[in-house]
Amino acid sequence: MKDKFVCTKCGLKHLYETLIEYPLPAAISNVTSGRKAGEVKLISKNAYIIQGEFIIMCILRIPIHEIDDDLEIHTWVQINKEELTKVRDWTKENYNDLLTADAEILMTGSLVYPIPTYGISDYPIVKVNYLSSGLFPEVKLIHSTTQLYEDWKFGITLKRLETILIHLIHGL
Ligand SMILES: [Zn+2]
Repeated sequence: MKDKFVCTKCGLKHLYETLIEYPLPAAISNVTSGRKAGEVKLISKNAYIIQGEFIIMCILRIPIHEIDDDLEIHTWVQINKEELTKVRDWTKENYNDLLTADAEILMTGSLVYPIPTYGISDYPIVKVNYLSSGLFPEVKLIHSTTQLYEDWKFGITLKRLETILIHLIHGL
């Protein structure tokens, strides 16, 4: 496989990337950097509680047909108070239970960032299986645009990967 493709937007060559990493959501970084007042609780690597909401780094994996690889999107999922309460009694602030849990912890949340190409209005709803392994939990899509759902389920072509990367590089 070639390592670069010609961009239909700017005419230059861009690298094929199969890893997209999103930065810490502004809601958290604004507080941790002191730009805004508030309280952020770091409960494990890449898992935060802010204003009662749980924000965790997760992986959305989209298979790529022509190569033996996936597009891995490292992104952030926001899980609201009500959902957290369904999972566990949080009134005792026993967040450490999450880290020592030996069973599956299934939670429904939404992506903090839209995925390039699929539209700014698409903040997919996902299911997260939060395990205590320390790895990023993988998300399953439960509601999104049809196109994103089909791509996630059935995989994408390299041509489509190029489209996603062009959107990422040049803006949504
Ligand atoms: Zn370009």
